Amino acid sequence: MDFKEEFEKKVMKETKKLIKKDKKLLVAVSGGKDSITILYLLHKWGYDVEALMIDLGFRFFKEHVDNAREFCRELGIKLHIASVKKELGRGMRELQLRAGKSNCFTCGVIKRWLINRKAKELGFEKVVTGHNLDDYAESILMNIFMNNRNASRNLRSPFRIKPLNYIPEKEIEKYAREMGFKINYEACPYSDNAFRRLVLNMMREYEISAMNVVKMFEKTSMKEEGKFRKCSICGGPSSGEICNACRLINLIKKK
Ligand code: SF4
Ligand code: ZN
Repeated sequence: MDFKEEFEKKVMKETKKLIKKDKKLLVAVSGGKDSITILYLLHKWGYDVEALMIDLGFRFFKEHVDNAREFCRELGIKLHIASVKKELGRGMRELQLRAGKSNCFTCGVIKRWLINRKAKELGFEKVVTGHNLDDYAESILMNIFMNNRNASRNLRSPFRIKPLNYIPEKEIEKYAREMGFKINYEACPYSDNAFRRLVLNMMREYEISAMNVVKMFEKTSMKEEGKFRKCSICGGPSSGEICNACRLINLIKKK
């Protein structure tokens, strides 16, 4: 069995544990290797999929949108595009500058909020995402260091389906490259996630296994599941009375 066959077998095993074939699925795509790979595979295996892309409005992002459009057109997958600028009156860069928080925090919170909102409008309860094992382990460690229990709970959100959660990033990248998917592999110029990079470097230097971090987290966090409530403003999932996105949007409006 070659690498691609082995990779697909592994992803299929994870997918079968999480998704029944009779359900229509909405896949959140960013135009990156992870989400394009899972969208491609679900479609290949006969799942009924539609895609949702959040257009962040960054200048460099146009290429991602065009790539996703072309990819979905070639495979005959319906693609919904929600624009941050249309929904909130400002592009993501302006929102980041106004919010005065870390770029990736603002971007991540608004993206999640918009995905939830669009999914609800389109009639989907859950959304498939392309998060991989390395993202998962890094986020767990970051949340532990910051004592961020709410963010830890979000990692196991019942509103997300993550078939690549146990698949290492380098395997996904190898697969996407071998498949020749048209993807921009360059890093986002607005990424300021120095802390994530620090955690990643620490994991590499001390050879910390991402899978071990994830296993330990899952063993100890099972009892935390299901503690989501509805945000009193937007009705989206929230760990408190008002979700992070509504708090952030209010803050930006006041500026
Ligand atoms: Fe947004 Fe940060 Fe991702 Fe760039 S790296 S798209 S700013 S979350
Ligand atoms: Zn809200």
